Amino acid sequence: MKKYLCEACGYIYDPEVGDPDNGVEAGTAFEDIPEDWLCPLCGLGKDAFVETE
Ligand SMILES: [Zn+2]
Repeated sequence: MKKYLCEACGYIYDPEVGDPDNGVEAGTAFEDIPEDWLCPLCGLGKDAFVETE
């Protein structure tokens, strides 16, 4: 699964890790994260993220 970078703050969402503190279990693809999820560092929505290596 692909990682996604928050262009605003540099946070990288790694599907293998997820974001368990915010209700996203490890193994959740970025596409499958709820639309109301926010970047845990800067609080922007999924729109701020771009696909990365
Ligand atoms: Zn961010």
